[in-house]
Amino acid sequence: MPDSYHTEAEQGETLILDAVDRFLERDVRPYVRELEAADEYPAEIADKMAELGLFGATISADYGGLGMSADTYSKIVERVSAVWMSLSGIFNSHLIMCAAVERFGSEEMRRTYLPKFAAGKMRGGIALTEPDCGTDLQAVRTRAEKDGDCYVINGNKMWSTNAVKGHVLAVLCKTDLEAEGPRHKGMSLLLVEKDMGYKASKLKKLGYRGVDTGEVQFDNVRVPTANLIGSAEGKGLNQILAGLELGRINVAARGVGVARACLEESVVYAQTRKTFGKPIAEHQSIQIKLADMACRVESARLLTEQAARAYDTGGRCDLEAGMAKLVATEAAMENANEAMRLHGGYGYSPEYNIERYYRDAPLLCIGEGTNELQRLIIAKQLVERNPV
Ligand SMILES: Cc1cc2nc3c(=O)[nH]c(=O)nc-3n(C[C@H](O)[C@H](O)[C@H](O)COP(=O)(O)OP(=O)(O)OC[C@H]3O[C@@H](n4cnc5c(N)ncnc54)[C@H](O)[C@@H]3O)c2cc1C
Repeated sequence: MPDSYHTEAEQGETLILDAVDRFLERDVRPYVRELEAADEYPAEIADKMAELGLFGATISADYGGLGMSADTYSKIVERVSAVWMSLSGIFNSHLIMCAAVERFGSEEMRRTYLPKFAAGKMRGGIALTEPDCGTDLQAVRTRAEKDGDCYVINGNKMWSTNAVKGHVLAVLCKTDLEAEGPRHKGMSLLLVEKDMGYKASKLKKLGYRGVDTGEVQFDNVRVPTANLIGSAEGKGLNQILAGLELGRINVAARGVGVARACLEESVVYAQTRKTFGKPIAEHQSIQIKLADMACRVESARLLTEQAARAYDTGGRCDLEAGMAKLVATEAAMENANEAMRLHGGYGYSPEYNIERYYRDAPLLCIGEGTNELQRLIIAKQLVERNPV
């Protein structure tokens, strides 16, 4: 029952966030450095995330998910990323794929796949980027040609998170090579199970270790036409771009988490490390760093909350999501850099977490649309929303 001060939804959120905090302290924090150093997929932790329901966090209850708001979801992502950012990749890429199925898939496709996705029994991601294109997705060359009641897929995808350990991918393909007009017209999204025959191999990365990111090869992979997401071909780019709004809010929340972790560890270190007879927290140049880091965390969080709430209202929120993604991920980059300086030589050592934040942060400025692209989106939206 709701108490007199909080709604039922607020109390539900508190319960979920408390459960996530307990899981992170008990099952994740003690093992992060070891798993990170080995670049090992955290299989047991992923199973525990499934028990917590994280693989169905934003899937509606009708299909076995938790039906969480983007607002609550982004708070979970912030918490997870403040402990180990890699974990957020395991369920976020999966949930972008789920969002495409839930928003645009047929009822039959939803009933077939979403309960398995929500339970974490079938985990996946999105395969958009190719060796020759990432930002310019309209240039994808992977093609899916109809043959009876199947599509036959040929091509290569690059940097697909969860491609190796996961079981299914939403794949952006050209279904009409002759389409006239804008290039996106001939593009479609297909849900492709690994058992249908794609091959994935793990790529080496600067950071974001543990979670697998792979190169994927489609060599005459046959996929039933029923696995086309949506009722008609040619809508794939719009479908995936709609899902990326939630993806960008998630990446913003990751940025808040990493920026906060840098701040919190710096506040502790600044009080314990002494130079010239006093804690470095008493030197003005260190105080300036701490103050700027804290301001970045709070402004990033406010923009992320604003974007998540705009998403929850159901309208388009690419302006809000773009701003949150840009500011929060740059905050993570700057705070990681400042935390590294503040920790001196120890910042450079894997005995501390700072070097991991420093390696993880740059991905946030690249993934789900680079920050250069976010600026273009923000400016375009400003003009569109304010015509003269
Ligand atoms: C660890 C990791 C995980 C990833 N996970 C996935 C995943 O799960 N699925 C997936 O599909 N992809 C994934 N990606 C790929 C990622 O989304 C792309 O790397 C990203 O979109 C950029 O594309 P690109 O690397 O081809 O760079 P490019 O598009 O070649 O861009 C190169 C540079 O040019 C800039 N640029 C490009 N166009 C413009 C423009 N019009 N104006 C101004 N500047 C521009 C870019 O901002 C960038 O600075 C992942 C990448 C990494 C590193």
